[in-house]
Amino acid sequence: MATVLDIAKRNPNAAPVAVSDAARAAGFIEKTAELNVVAGAAPGGASLVGLTRDQLKDSLSAIGVPERELKMRVAQLWHWIYFRGAKDFAEMTNVGKELRAKLAAAYTLARPQVVSEQVSKDGTRKWLIRMPSTGPLDKGAEIECVYIPEVDRGTLCVSSQVGCTLTCSFCHTGTQRLVRNLTSAEIVAQLIVARDSIGDWPDATPPEGAFVPTDGGRFVSNIVFMGMGEPLYNIGDVIAAIDVMSDGEGLTLSRRRITVSTSGVVPQMERLGAEANTMLAISLHAVRDELRDELVPINRKYDIKQLLDACRAYPGLSNARRITFEYVMLKGVNDSDADARELVRLLKGIPAKINLIPFNPWPGSKYECSDWERIERFSEIVYRAGYASPVRTPRGRDILAACGQLKSETEKLRARARMMAEQGIGAEGVYAVGNGE
Ligand code: SAH
Ligand code: SF4
Repeated sequence: MATVLDIAKRNPNAAPVAVSDAARAAGFIEKTAELNVVAGAAPGGASLVGLTRDQLKDSLSAIGVPERELKMRVAQLWHWIYFRGAKDFAEMTNVGKELRAKLAAAYTLARPQVVSEQVSKDGTRKWLIRMPSTGPLDKGAEIECVYIPEVDRGTLCVSSQVGCTLTCSFCHTGTQRLVRNLTSAEIVAQLIVARDSIGDWPDATPPEGAFVPTDGGRFVSNIVFMGMGEPLYNIGDVIAAIDVMSDGEGLTLSRRRITVSTSGVVPQMERLGAEANTMLAISLHAVRDELRDELVPINRKYDIKQLLDACRAYPGLSNARRITFEYVMLKGVNDSDADARELVRLLKGIPAKINLIPFNPWPGSKYECSDWERIERFSEIVYRAGYASPVRTPRGRDILAACGQLKSETEKLRARARMMAEQGIGAEGVYAVGNGE
């Protein structure tokens, strides 16, 4: 008999979901169901979930809430949406009945659709999330988002773009062309979806058997912008999303527990530090320009020297606020003793942590992960030079949720599709799914 998962219990509209034998044999469970169907939501109305204070204010103005009430009403909605995780305007007991009815007629509190949820045998969760369609030609962009629980923290890895314009040669996301930037609301919504799913709201409980931190803190305590996309190519929306996530009256995540990872978009690093005041991670991966040009092609635009100069100038940098340098371990490519020594030399004077990431393979990738002894030796050289050099334990590899394995099937409309659409032929069925997967 198939196991019925908890989704059905939490959502009376959901069909029971079965765990297939194949999925169970592979060590993970896959659930596919229409999650997050919000009872009582107005069909077709825009969702207020994920909006900034200013956007909420505009939404309230648009339905005739008088100017003098706006501040108070925004504060009320903010509390219900971001502190309590409300899914229905009817829950908002301190908002008058009349206004609740107006809100429900014009808007929803719907979350983006969770197309599937996979749970790794190590407790890592990966959600494939479909954003609402932005127009007749948009089927709804899909992105992946990953939750990595540990005993004393829970880290959510969020995406900032659908696909990526950059083409780092070891990264799965890099094989997917950029479809579009996510809006700040879509970035925030990933946190809301995660909290819904793991029961991280004041009156909620985690699904039975779920691995969540046991230290008494929030189940999602840390955010890393290490999912799909290059956050600094979508910096305005990333900063706005960080403002919502770290707001003390709502989602209350500490900015020091939010890390933005960049492949090295040098001109935007200053702005990130000054406006978002988050922790910074740099995808370094090579210590010579020639190799970095190949692994992280943005290096041809902003080379290692420019990148490290921008790191030295990063606002707020101190020994208590170090930059994390990510370094993927690729067998025979960047993992020699000489590479380790050069890494240490390059980072001299920068308050830094070095995060060694075992390469996570994906279908069609041309690299191999360095041998364990090599990684240890590399780590030892870095450690002896005085740097913490944790090796990132690969998490969720069985569900392709580890670093650089994320990718969705959403592809840009190809030229032919666009032409057909313009000629009124209709775009149905011509969304190209590329890269032979
Ligand atoms: N675009 C941003 C953030 C997303 S990638 C950036 O590049 O920094 C998050 C991290 O995973 C980056 O350091 C990236 O280089 C690394 N990564 C990408 N593909 C990987 C893979 N296959 N194995 C291990 N790490 C990978
Ligand atoms: Fe894009 Fe980062 Fe992947 Fe490079 S490593 S392709 S910047 S997501």
